[in-house]
Amino acid sequence: MPVNILFAARTVRWVEYEAPLRAALDAVGLDYVLDVDLPPETVDYIVYAPNSKVQDFTPYTRLKAVLNLWAGVEDAVNNPTLKVPFARMVDDAGLTQGMVEWVTGHVLRHHLGMDAHIVNPNHDWIADAPPVAADRPVGILGLGELGSACGQALQQLGFPVTGWARSPKTVEGIPCLTGPDGLREVLRQSQIVVLLLPSTPSTENTLNAETLALMPKGAFVVNPGRGPLIDDDALLAALDSGHIAHATLDVFRTEPLPKDHPYWSHPRVTVTPHIASETRAPSASRAIVENIRRGEAGEPFLYLVDRDAGY
Ligand code: NAP
Repeated sequence: MPVNILFAARTVRWVEYEAPLRAALDAVGLDYVLDVDLPPETVDYIVYAPNSKVQDFTPYTRLKAVLNLWAGVEDAVNNPTLKVPFARMVDDAGLTQGMVEWVTGHVLRHHLGMDAHIVNPNHDWIADAPPVAADRPVGILGLGELGSACGQALQQLGFPVTGWARSPKTVEGIPCLTGPDGLREVLRQSQIVVLLLPSTPSTENTLNAETLALMPKGAFVVNPGRGPLIDDDALLAALDSGHIAHATLDVFRTEPLPKDHPYWSHPRVTVTPHIASETRAPSASRAIVENIRRGEAGEPFLYLVDRDAGY
């Protein structure tokens, strides 16, 4: 009997994913049916975007797993009808690599003070050489798949990197702190802080008036994680006072960021439109199909979401 796979995401994604998914399924030799419309009671796996039409999983009575197309799961993790294993996306060649490039680029921009030379209308001779990376400590809040990869890339460039996670972790070359005391320590010592935490009730407003005040004067914030990680009013106040020199923000509580949001016009804020990274269909399809193969072989699924932790 074939494995029935429902693709539940917007049409534009089907156009992008159908061929790579079929190629990955063919490569593992599965007998399958892959479609955007299947009788719910026949579906074994759902390849899923939380903004798809499928919001009630109750009719999918023989479902074995739901395989998320994105890394962030905050829009599906609390769905009470989603009771089967739920895997998030880990896509090393696409999503992770893209994030490493985006984070490295924006960290280097602030580290090197590039703006002063790119926008220099008065042709001022600004002869302040930047410090070397070894003198620019970086903190990574969220030392998971993406945070670890970004931290290691920065560490290889010479930055002293310290991470912060929920549980103790061993990532080569990166000390990892935990808990509220660990957060305070990372913030106190970091001139650039990168947020790569998931959006959960415990991570909301990780950067707030109190924690921003711990950062050294003139520090930089880089947020490709999620909007709710930052208390926006507190960040704007810290930017206005000059305590935070610049914030590069890719994610926001409301997206697209409303045209009248103060971030757009703030001279110390760079807005990028949630483009830090995205899953790339060929490598993401291979990741999804590996989980289907595992399910059919009776092997444990990879990258399962912890419902209690919310990520
Ligand atoms: P991940 O592997 O699950 O890593 C999450 C990290 O955050 C882990 O180190 C985790 O700690 C830590 N964490 C979670 N809750 C915490 C808490 N309460 N206190 C301290 N640390 C906590 O996730 P990922 O794949 O790296 O992705 C991270 C996030 O990036 C996603 O959730 C998504 O929001 C965002 N993202 C953004 C884009 C974009 O284009 N802007 C693209 C992809 C992803 P443990 O290690 O102890 O579990």
